[in-house]
Amino acid sequence: MTTLDTLITRLPPGRVISDPAVTASYAGDQTHLTPGVPLAVVAPRDTAEVVAAVRWAAEHRVPVVPRGGGTGLAGGAVATDGCLVLSLARMNRIRELSPADGLAVVEPGVINADLDRAAREHGLMYAPDPSSYESCTIGGNLATNAGGLRCVKYGVTREAALGLEVVLADGRIVRTGGRTVKGVTGYDLTGLFVGSEGTLGVITEATLRLRPAPAAPATVLATFPGPRQAAAAAAAIVADGLRPSLLELLDRATLQAIDDWKGIDLDPGTGAMLIAQSDDGPATAMADRCEQSGADLVAVSSDPAEAAALLDLRRLAHPAAERLGACLVEDVCVPRSRLAEMFHRIETAARTHNATILTVAHAGDGNLHPFFVFDRGEPEPPPHVWAAADEVFTAALELGGTLTGEHGVGLLKRRWLDQELDEVSLDLHHRIKQALDPKGLLNPTKAL
Ligand SMILES: Cc1cc2nc3c(=O)[nH]c(=O)nc-3n(C[C@H](O)[C@H](O)[C@H](O)COP(=O)(O)OP(=O)(O)OC[C@H]3O[C@@H](n4cnc5c(N)ncnc54)[C@H](O)[C@@H]3O)c2cc1C
Repeated sequence: MTTLDTLITRLPPGRVISDPAVTASYAGDQTHLTPGVPLAVVAPRDTAEVVAAVRWAAEHRVPVVPRGGGTGLAGGAVATDGCLVLSLARMNRIRELSPADGLAVVEPGVINADLDRAAREHGLMYAPDPSSYESCTIGGNLATNAGGLRCVKYGVTREAALGLEVVLADGRIVRTGGRTVKGVTGYDLTGLFVGSEGTLGVITEATLRLRPAPAAPATVLATFPGPRQAAAAAAAIVADGLRPSLLELLDRATLQAIDDWKGIDLDPGTGAMLIAQSDDGPATAMADRCEQSGADLVAVSSDPAEAAALLDLRRLAHPAAERLGACLVEDVCVPRSRLAEMFHRIETAARTHNATILTVAHAGDGNLHPFFVFDRGEPEPPPHVWAAADEVFTAALELGGTLTGEHGVGLLKRRWLDQELDEVSLDLHHRIKQALDPKGLLNPTKAL
């Protein structure tokens, strides 16, 4: 009997996959990183099966890499050699949806958009909406503390997480938080697990806050000579308390890539585009701020079809960038008042290092996604791309920002971690990891 056979006997038939041709398809994520070769993939159907797999891994000292939809952009779900990939994708039931309490209880493999659709049937919505919403899972969203387009008004995943069930590294199950909107008994363990990138426990159930579904939004589309004016408009909209439900910025390079692909009749003078929405009143005040900040063109619409088309355009940014080559997608976040400056620093980094960078931003959150494009033939980003990325990270930190607003550290951002976290903070991180996972088996080498 091989070691793996001892796992197979502990689980129902079909749960353990060891065919290398199949396990390879569970090994990577949406980064360029080359994954290791997993020992096997386990696809549990319930918490008891997760416990069985994690206990087996602890006994045999096999690393465990939790995995949701594999849409991550930081390498968090990338397999390491000899690991057990724990795919939570088949634990995808919505166990309860309670309009009375404004919450849903879900398994980790539920697809983000499926939960939102189910909530809408009750006049509710699940607010956090990463652009990958049709393929990412709630477990992955919790583990990365994912953001999205609506987060400028409704908050990131942490704000939606009321309680969790988590399988710890030794196979014990812990329940955190609960069904109440308030609750301060004990430390905030829910907050600790949210954003822990699979390094502290495996999330097997979540109780999530739902919100009343808002009215159809009014939308503003504004174009500007450059991203700095668009960023200034975004900062003014937020600073003036206009409460946009969406505020997205696309730079010229991104618009050009979309235009080359889809033909959107891009004006040669357009240097940036801002898309703003309001779901609790007219959008005229936001349109005014765009004009005052130097917009060339401002259009307001209350047509839901036009709003949906503009969001589709925004969601084309990532695939349009990928048509140009392989992409290193970054995720810096700065105080909103420094957004214009951050765009300037990205432009400077691109020029200095002769790098191709396309940038979109969740402008209302000060969260920018520079896509560093490089030759698909290269196994990893070439030195000039890393040099440009380094300059962008340094700039973000100098402006009072952070390395990652919503994608997580994963494997990609570890090299900059000690520039943001001081010695004491890093020590605390390692102690927490040690306390919860003393054998270091949960997603080793990630996030820290
Ligand atoms: C086109 C595109 C657009 C995107 N847009 C956004 C965006 O707007 N906002 C945003 O925040 N992100 C965005 N992302 C990134 C990605 O979709 C998010 O990080 C998402 O939350 C990952 O979910 P997933 O289910 O795919 O997780 P995976 O990629 O499978 O895993 C991500 C991390 O979570 C851990 N994990 C997964 N499930 C569990 C679990 N049950 N328990 C413990 N740990 C777990 C993994 O180990 C890994 O560290 C985008 C990605 C793409 C490809």
